[in-house]
Amino acid sequence: VSEDWKAGYKRALLTAFGRSAYALKPLHGGADTYYGGPFDYQRTTEVHQHLSSIGCEVDVDASPMPEDVSWAQFNGTFAEDDTRHGLDGSITCRCGRLRGVPVRWEGTFSELLTQVLRED
Ligand SMILES: [Zn+2]
Repeated sequence: VSEDWKAGYKRALLTAFGRSAYALKPLHGGADTYYGGPFDYQRTTEVHQHLSSIGCEVDVDASPMPEDVSWAQFNGTFAEDDTRHGLDGSITCRCGRLRGVPVRWEGTFSELLTQVLRED
């Protein structure tokens, strides 16, 4: 049985994930992730630019598959639920400039799959 489809599937998924997920604020930076949200937007821009415009790509063998995560984040004064769901992963690229960068996709796995199938 050919395993090629698995390698292709993982590559497609991690490529879309790396280009869409947001970099997380450093864990020990003392950042307010409840009101300010968990994302580091400047770092996110760097990661997205590195993985698309410059032409580098996710090192599929060095990056684990994303996993389900939920977190609490301020949703507005009148929100009844402050829980959000997404996928966490860490990105390492082929040239080594990105090494285990913690990133998070805010959405469901099926939404990520939709994004994968939309590419190319
Ligand atoms: Zn790179």
